[in-house]
Amino acid sequence: MHNERKSVLLVAMPFAGVTIPSIQLAVLEGYCRTQGIIIESRHLYLKAAELYGLQQYHSLIYPPNDSYSAQMVFSRYVFPKHWAKNEDRFREYFHQKSEQNPPLASFSFEDYVHRTDELTQWILDHVDWRSYDIIGFTLNYGQLLPSLAIAQKIKELAPEKIIVLGGSRTVDSLGINVLRAFEYVDFIVSGDGEEALTRLASDYQNYETIPHVIYRKGNQIYYNRSEQGIDLHSVPTPSYDAFYQQLTAAPEEIRRFFQYYGRLPVEISRGCWWNQCTFCNLNIQHPCYREKPVSRIIQEIRWLSERYHMMDFQLIGNPLPKTDYRALFEKLRDLGRDFSFFVEARAGQLTSDDYTLMRDVGFTVIQTGIESFSSNYLRKMNKGARVIDNIAALKFCKENSIKNTYNLLVRYPNEEPVDFEETKKVVHLIQGYLDAPSLCELLVMYGSHIYRHPEQFNVERLDYSPIDLIMYPREYLKKGFAFMYDAKQKTLTQKNPWESLVEEWKKNQEQVTQENLTSPSMIDRLIFSFVDGGSFLKIYDKRDRQNVKIFVLNDLERRVFLSCIDIISYSELRRRFLDVPEYELVAILQSFEQNGLLFVEDDCYLCLPLRSRVQNIQEKKEECLVNISP
Ligand code: SF4
Repeated sequence: MHNERKSVLLVAMPFAGVTIPSIQLAVLEGYCRTQGIIIESRHLYLKAAELYGLQQYHSLIYPPNDSYSAQMVFSRYVFPKHWAKNEDRFREYFHQKSEQNPPLASFSFEDYVHRTDELTQWILDHVDWRSYDIIGFTLNYGQLLPSLAIAQKIKELAPEKIIVLGGSRTVDSLGINVLRAFEYVDFIVSGDGEEALTRLASDYQNYETIPHVIYRKGNQIYYNRSEQGIDLHSVPTPSYDAFYQQLTAAPEEIRRFFQYYGRLPVEISRGCWWNQCTFCNLNIQHPCYREKPVSRIIQEIRWLSERYHMMDFQLIGNPLPKTDYRALFEKLRDLGRDFSFFVEARAGQLTSDDYTLMRDVGFTVIQTGIESFSSNYLRKMNKGARVIDNIAALKFCKENSIKNTYNLLVRYPNEEPVDFEETKKVVHLIQGYLDAPSLCELLVMYGSHIYRHPEQFNVERLDYSPIDLIMYPREYLKKGFAFMYDAKQKTLTQKNPWESLVEEWKKNQEQVTQENLTSPSMIDRLIFSFVDGGSFLKIYDKRDRQNVKIFVLNDLERRVFLSCIDIISYSELRRRFLDVPEYELVAILQSFEQNGLLFVEDDCYLCLPLRSRVQNIQEKKEECLVNISP
């Protein structure tokens, strides 16, 4: 019996979003099948969205709420005594969140609890978990408590079932501590799951030798730590058949929602080639960076589109490939389909032409890791991008009608007044015409650089977060599986008014958009833009509506200005304008800067107005190069 292959049921619990299916399930299922494992998967967040109601489900997991706190109701099953003692605290937290979120107003705490009961019972009664040997849960941000709740019930009903957890929430020592804390969990897979899950199913008796597996033996926990990651060439195209089957059984509202807003995830890489931002903990899950070949990505997108009649995709990879991104865009464009894509990108990587290509390919929404408009702050974050790179990314998005849903990350424990003051100056330049960010307060993530070196960031100690202190009994938190922490400052610093800065920007943006919405004129809609007259150039500046300006540049000024469409260094500018006396070039640049037409950082220059006719710009840049050659 021992040598028999084991069958696997893979589960993704709430509170994952319903806009994109779980890629973890799809990839693991596809891989294990190719290895001859009997495996099925259940996307149970779909059922949760049905039972809570789609609108309420979204209100629970999207700002101002989030999927991490949405899971708190499952504490009732995992820690029943803690729940009974603290029910009022749970209720109060829920009410506080509901007040900030009108759609939750008609959804009471009692509804929240009652529907969670219904969901739990439905899973136990209707998911055919009894037919499988291994029940595997993939865990992201908000899925630990829901997964533990179901795992515990299954183990009570059928102790012979093998419970496996894996995903970002249980990597490395988090996984070790989860295994130590919850005896009904049998294994944790830390890092890439394909091989580990396959071997658990096919070679179970030798689990002690399987890389990436954390297991219990007697009272001891062992971790077969491995730095080796799977070769992405060997990962088959993910299968979303199970997701679509389960979607078909969902109510009309959810099916329709997915038809309109759903996207299929396509994995393009694992890990991050930069891997140095001080707040980020991606490295603990994927210590080595790997890319999927462009030809494979293209093949997958074509296949997925044909199979599921899908046109909208989310490229999963943080961030875009280091070098092959342009080849990827060109091949996507050459497919000649009306696809749309979402991707996360790094500032400082792409040029204005890359963004235009992205627009042509169908990148309608992207998220750039902007994080700050202060060079001092960016250094603390070790972003490897400058303020000028951030402005360039937003400018290129705006002129190509690509929406950028970016964040400003604030409240580092070593935040200084200069971080705010620098940001304020930049915001003053760009708030009239570039889109406002969302604010994101720093939480110290397990495994991040700040977590490992708090002393470098004015941190006296790391405390459990308020929501963890509600969801988990303190004695459990002490076992060391908290995912994020509140940093308590060593030296108290002044709190900068980020909220009012961003609120004002948003208000301004809304007002301007309303005013110009119906205008047929590009000049009105772009607010701050230029048109090129061949031997002169006109800039329309309506950032300050009380003081509208029009600048007319002469031929030399025009050529200098057009040279700064992409970020350019002073030495490169000088090389291009050898025939112009240096004092004259400097005077032009200074006058651009003084009039807010140019952003300067580290002797690099970027013109700020938007190109009103993006399609001609490559020709113009080339023409300038010809004209100005010595
Ligand atoms: S924040 Fe983004 S760019 Fe920075 S290390 Fe993490 S994944 Fe990489």
